[in-house]
Amino acid sequence: MSGKKKITTNSGCPVNHYQDSQSVGSRGPLLLQDFFLHEKLAQFNRERIPERIVHAKGSGAYGKFTVTHDISKYTRAKVFSKIGKETKIFVRFSTVGGEKGSADTERDPRGFAVKFYTEDGNWDLVGNNTPVFFIKDPKKFPDFIHTQKRDPKSNCKSPTMMWDYWSLNPESLHQVLILMSDRGTPNGYRFMNGYGSHTFSLVNKNNERFYVKFHYKTMQGIKSFTDGEASDLKGKDPDYAQRDLVNSIEKGAFPKYALKIQIMDLKQAREFKWNPFDLTKVWPHKDFPLMDVGVLELNQIPDNYFQDVEQAAFAPANLVDGIGFSPDKMLQGRILAYPDAHRYRIGVNFESLPVNKCPYATTNYHRDGAMRFDGNGGDSPNYYPNSFDGNYEDEKYKGQPYELDSNEVAYFDRNENDDDHYSQPGKLFDEVMTEQEQKNTINNIIGAMSGISGVKKDEIINRQLCHWFRASKKLGTEIAKGLGVNIDDFKK
Ligand code: NDP
Repeated sequence: MSGKKKITTNSGCPVNHYQDSQSVGSRGPLLLQDFFLHEKLAQFNRERIPERIVHAKGSGAYGKFTVTHDISKYTRAKVFSKIGKETKIFVRFSTVGGEKGSADTERDPRGFAVKFYTEDGNWDLVGNNTPVFFIKDPKKFPDFIHTQKRDPKSNCKSPTMMWDYWSLNPESLHQVLILMSDRGTPNGYRFMNGYGSHTFSLVNKNNERFYVKFHYKTMQGIKSFTDGEASDLKGKDPDYAQRDLVNSIEKGAFPKYALKIQIMDLKQAREFKWNPFDLTKVWPHKDFPLMDVGVLELNQIPDNYFQDVEQAAFAPANLVDGIGFSPDKMLQGRILAYPDAHRYRIGVNFESLPVNKCPYATTNYHRDGAMRFDGNGGDSPNYYPNSFDGNYEDEKYKGQPYELDSNEVAYFDRNENDDDHYSQPGKLFDEVMTEQEQKNTINNIIGAMSGISGVKKDEIINRQLCHWFRASKKLGTEIAKGLGVNIDDFKK
């Protein structure tokens, strides 16, 4: 906090009555000429910007990324250029479905968005704490999110809407299983993993392309809440994760995450059993082992939450040289949707705000727009090409062409394995989860599915049970038992 200052109006005029309005006589009506009263009330009325439709409740911190291993074989991205190199980062964690005031311990995926301020521009890796997602096509996103929000009539959350949609979209099963495990209620943001989730590409100095998945493994170890603990905390401390992040960083216990990658070459991508660009599937570690890259450390809570956390704007479109897109349909959809959301929520000049601004020079011919406060290019030319400024397009940054599998225009890309929504969740439940984790997951699912109600109740339950059975016999049987469904009737 800086030294004492004179209170002023927004235009800098010193204020001598901050709390008393100007009136006619000491008890009389107020005067229109008390313009500072109007300024205060008008400013207050405009304090909120539109809430994010998803990821509304969030926490953020600055920190650094340090390279620990050489991956120059795969990428020429400067952020990875040498061991020991440090890059400033900003990370925003969030829940997904709840509003800005909702509880931090809701059962929900957690957003894990990282902005790397690199000398080649900001690189945003906008992921979650899960390696997969509910859908694999962005056209489904608005419908899916409607089911996670409030019922149009009751204005309450509706398990019927959720399970109706999930049961009609079996590609969601993998993510729903993870959500229903105790990892769906992580103990704050320090004790969970993060994933870039999409498949991206890496390009090296020789213009060779590789596909990549990014993982952030928590170095604090995994800690999750049981359903009961998470529910209790919703009432006792709805801001649990925010408080935990602030307290640990202010105490000097800086959360750390190890950045790791999985690499797939183009031949492996063509031969992979599943579509490597399908966001509902992972790449098995046995076939594509995790490789160490570096460490993210969070070490500074922003002084002002609204300025840096609420106005933070991440976009999967923000990639840097050496890191590229892939044909992942969800990624392609997000390239458009995220900057569009920020232009609506914050305004066209959102990238000039401190948290979003590239700290290195940015030069282009975009001008004007609401709330332009960065000099607006001054008296330099506002068109290109021109005969004056000598600016140029750097050929070195020309993207690397890549081949498409098909040149046929189509809406669907389905083959047998793309519709295999069951083997990966089955493996997670049967082979990865401990017996206790299985038990908790089953109980969490039974609890959540017990909320299904209305005339379609049996139809929805039966449809979803079929999916659980297809993933794992044990999972299906135990859930059916818990819901009181007679398996013999159900088999018919
Ligand atoms: P591995 O045994 O090598 O890896 C299992 C992975 O599952 C680990 O990364 C582990 O994370 C993670 N995990 C453990 N419990 C849960 C849970 N409740 N929810 C989500 N993730 C969990 O096996 P595979 O690579 O062959 O994958 C097997 C299954 O594991 C997959 O089908 C998928 O469901 C899940 N998984 C796989 C990932 C991948 O990228 N291959 C990533 C995450 C999950 P940790 O090591 O941090 O405990």
